[in-house]
Amino acid sequence: MKRKNLFFFAMVVMFLAAGVLAGQEMPKEIKAVPVVGGLYFVEGLEGGNVAFLATDEGVLVVDSGTTPEEGKLIVAEIARVSGRPIRFLVLTHYHGDHTFGLQAYPPSTVIIAQQNTADNMRSLNEPRLRGMMEKQMPEMIATQKLKVEKLRKKNGKELPKEEEALKALETQLAELKELCFVYPAVTFQSKLSVFLGGQEIEVVHLGRAHTDGDALVYFPKLKVLHTGDLFFAGSYPYIGVEAGADTANWIAAIERAASWEVETVIPGHGRLTDESGLLKMAAYLSELRQAVKDAIASGKSLEEAKKMAPLPAWKGFERERLLPTNIEAVYNELAGKKD
Ligand SMILES: [Zn+2]
Repeated sequence: MKRKNLFFFAMVVMFLAAGVLAGQEMPKEIKAVPVVGGLYFVEGLEGGNVAFLATDEGVLVVDSGTTPEEGKLIVAEIARVSGRPIRFLVLTHYHGDHTFGLQAYPPSTVIIAQQNTADNMRSLNEPRLRGMMEKQMPEMIATQKLKVEKLRKKNGKELPKEEEALKALETQLAELKELCFVYPAVTFQSKLSVFLGGQEIEVVHLGRAHTDGDALVYFPKLKVLHTGDLFFAGSYPYIGVEAGADTANWIAAIERAASWEVETVIPGHGRLTDESGLLKMAAYLSELRQAVKDAIASGKSLEEAKKMAPLPAWKGFERERLLPTNIEAVYNELAGKKD
């Protein structure tokens, strides 16, 4: 598997794991907690952060949840909390942990995304998932079957474990096959406003950052900003090189968003914070760019640069395994080499 597909693969595995868990008697606990003025944050999700604004005129949701199962739980929680129909769902970008829950929402929900996100859903998500469904997973299952048959013949002691693994793969494939591809009905280039419940919600694209189709969702009346994956709170970010990420513009986008009047920042991943928390992401990206620039200037190869130890300011960030991929993304960006 090509390296750049690894994140996608991890995402699919997460999707499958969440589905398998949902299939067993382990109902997941999710809960909408009030943030301010009818805006709620959904706690207990597997992947990207979901928030929603409940008004008398209906509900606007930001991102869908990671799986159809999770989407269903969110839809039920919204109904419980608001008792109003879901009218709009804004996608912050195309990654599966923000979009694979879409099919659970009522068909009347107007799905909104930046144009590149709609394109990425069609050109990246769908073919890869079809590949998983039609090729990779059936191949994995065939290999596992052979393994199990061999063990059966010699009555190997690993048989029960391997049979279990085969069953899990088959269940995962069956669940993957249930996924429907749902696409945005409304797209925009740089800005779109939704008017709901007496307030304007601004959906803004500030150019290439985490991907080439990121949308920030700003609630000026409530002074709340959902950043999507422009911000991983307390964690190394994923840099979406396969979809035109650009860390220089990412920093500029964060700085611009941080100049808006915001009291609460909802990151794409991690806990709620404020603008000072958001600016830490820009500081990380700036330091990373400088460190990689220095590595290039001192003649380091990509492989050498990737062994760089975390800088002191990044200590304690989660997902440290993403650091080498962050370095690689920036190294290639600085070398003018794009995927
Ligand atoms: Zn993402």
